[in-house]
Parts: sequence; C-alpha cells; structure tokens
Amino acid sequence: MEPKGGLMQRASDKKVSIPFVRPLLPSLEDVAGEFAEILSSGLITKGKYLELYEHALQEHLGVRHVVCTSSCTTGLILALRCLPAGSEVIVPSFTFCATVHATVWNNLIPVFADCDPQTFNINPERVREAITDHTSAILGVHVFGNPADIDALTEIARQHNLKLFFDAAHGFGATYKGLPLGSAGDASVLSSSPTKLVVTGEGGAAATNDEGIARLIRVGREYGNPGDYDCEFAGLNARMNELNAVLGVKCLTLLGEAVATRRQLAATYQSLLGEVPGISFQQINPFGESSYNYFAIVIDPAEFGMAAEQLKDALEAQGIPSRRYFYPPVHRQKAYSELTERYDPKLPVTNHLSQNILCLPIHPHLSEIDVEGICEGVRILRKEKLDFRRALC
Ligand SMILES: *Cc1c(COP(=O)(O)O)cnc(C)c1O
Repeated sequence: MEPKGGLMQRASDKKVSIPFVRPLLPSLEDVAGEFAEILSSGLITKGKYLELYEHALQEHLGVRHVVCTSSCTTGLILALRCLPAGSEVIVPSFTFCATVHATVWNNLIPVFADCDPQTFNINPERVREAITDHTSAILGVHVFGNPADIDALTEIARQHNLKLFFDAAHGFGATYKGLPLGSAGDASVLSSSPTKLVVTGEGGAAATNDEGIARLIRVGREYGNPGDYDCEFAGLNARMNELNAVLGVKCLTLLGEAVATRRQLAATYQSLLGEVPGISFQQINPFGESSYNYFAIVIDPAEFGMAAEQLKDALEAQGIPSRRYFYPPVHRQKAYSELTERYDPKLPVTNHLSQNILCLPIHPHLSEIDVEGICEGVRILRKEKLDFRRALC
C-alpha cells in the first residue's frame, strides 16, 4: 500500500495528476520464484499455474468449472457460442462495448433493454418486454460491481426457456446473498484486465456449473481443437499463459484488501458528496455488496450547476481524473449504427444516465485524504459555477 500521506498532496505539490486507476499487484519478490521456474522450465503456457489458478477460482467463486481465457471478451465470445446463430440476445446498452460485441461475433442479434435509473443494471421488466420467438438468451451485466437483479432474471429465463449469461467483468469482490458472483445463470465471465480488482495483466475467467459450456469454452480457447487436431468448430487462441496465471493466483489473495479499501473509499465519497445538491449515487442491490470497481456519481445539471462533461473537464484542470463510463452507450456507438438505423431501441433511461454519469477515481492506492480532496474539488467547482451564474444575473 501507498503511505497514507495522500497521492493528491504530492500531486498538487508537483502538479501531476493522481491516477484514475492503479491495480493492486503482488511485489516482484512475491512472483520471482514462480516466474524464474516458468522461464527456466520453458513451460510458458498450458502449465500447472493455469490449473492452480483455475482451481483457486473454483473454490473462491463456488462453481464447478472455471475456464480462464485471454480476456473477458474472448471468454464471452466463446460462452455465447452455444446459442443458435441468428437468434436474439437481450443485452443492456449501459455497459462496456465488449458485452454487445460478444453477441455480434457469434452472429447473434443484440436486442437492447433499458436499465434501471437507480441500480444502472438491466431492468427485468424491460427484458420481459424485449422477448420474442427468436430470443435465445439474456446477457446481464453487474454494472460497476453492483450485482444485477439475479433472481428476477433467473425467473424470466426459466419461464421463457432462455439461457442466462452474465458479463461479470466487474464482479471480482462483489457478492449476492453473501456469495461471490459467478455461479448465477448458465455462465458468468469475469475480467482480470488492469482496471479490475483481480489483475492478471490481461485475462478472463468463465465460471459455470454446466459441464457442456465449460467444455465448449475449454475447446474453444484452443482453436476448437479437442486434442486430436480434428477441430469441432472454428475456435480462437484465447488461452491464458502461465505468467498471467501466476499473477492471478497472487492477486486473488489480495482481493480481500482490494475490495475492503474500495468499500471504505466509496463510503467516504457517499458521506462527503451525499448532501451536495444535484449529485446522486448508484443504488446497490439490497441482497448484494458491490465491488466498487467504479464509483459513479450522477449529475443533475440544473441542480448541480453544470453538466457531467463540464465537471469532468474542470476536475481535469485540477489534476483530478474522471471517466464518463458508459458514454456513449453501446447502441449509440458507430459499430451499432446500422442496427439502430433499422430500429430505434428507445432507451430513455440509458440515454439519460449515460449523459449525466461521471466515475471518480477509486482504487487501493488512493487514500481517504485523496478522496477528501476530490470531494472538496467537486464542491468548490459547484460553488464557483453558481457564484459565477449569480454574478451574471
Ligand atoms: C472490462 C470489461 C470487459 C472486457 O474485459 P476484457 O478482459 O478487457 O476483455 C467486458 N465487460 C465489461 C462490463 C467490462 O468492464
């Protein structure tokens, strides 16, 4: 951990920005032995550390199968491979692009369902309305680490005989009914890219209790080759190598600390910004705990005095980075313009949220003092803006 002097103080001294994200990683000494062994043995991929990491994840997530992949994106692409090509998959648009890309890479048709304005997660009622005779699956997302309405989605999937998947990219460290995210639905895919809570460099982990789906992803990450070079389908090379797997094993032991720090920083943000007019927060699932992979504020421009976009620029000028996740929403990205020319998905909540959201820095290298400084920055900017407006009147 960083000394708790505060990155901000040093940042303001030297006029350097605090980082928006910085992963909690093992030290060189923590991995030196394993790295040396891997390099000297030459077993750099498909070795014992991948197996060790997958077993550790099975234990941690409480699922029968974990298949690690080169990324969450490739894991999702391979998981959705079990769906009939041409069928429809119900997805949120308030998510990272990769959620929806994974459908398109399988020749599936993404059908966007609006999200809930409080939880930011896909709204089960909108999912219900989006079901047609062509629907084969629902792909939910635990946005920012806030568990989706898993029970409602499970019930809808059961009633309509649909598969249910989760993009659990933000899922490490989050819980639903006291259990880690990963065992819900037919499969969940977690991410361990550098902005997430468990970091393997790049990487993903598909978690499932379904033997068939596990096998599909295992064969799929190996070109579609079941072992005899008689490929069953056109797969990918989506393997996770040994060095990445070692990082995963070590990072998993740091997860408790990573998530505890984030929850504490989130509580500080909430207490210091909770009273500021025009700022509201994501409502966490009452049955769950968020990983706070991201900490978001929603700006009401009229009450706050400026829009999220302006606040972002003003904070930037003070050395405070922030990100407009998720803006633009997926359905408004160029990649989906052809699709939305044919039909307007009408996602008022997603459009509104996407316009007004701003994610503030949250990571284990940030101190309480940093967060206090960021909150102070937000409050001062609001006051200055309102004073300026009044002076104009
Ligand atoms: C990060 C992220 C992904 C992609 O994960 P990779 O491991 O980088 O492929 C997918 N979905 C969401 C919601 C993400 O935040």
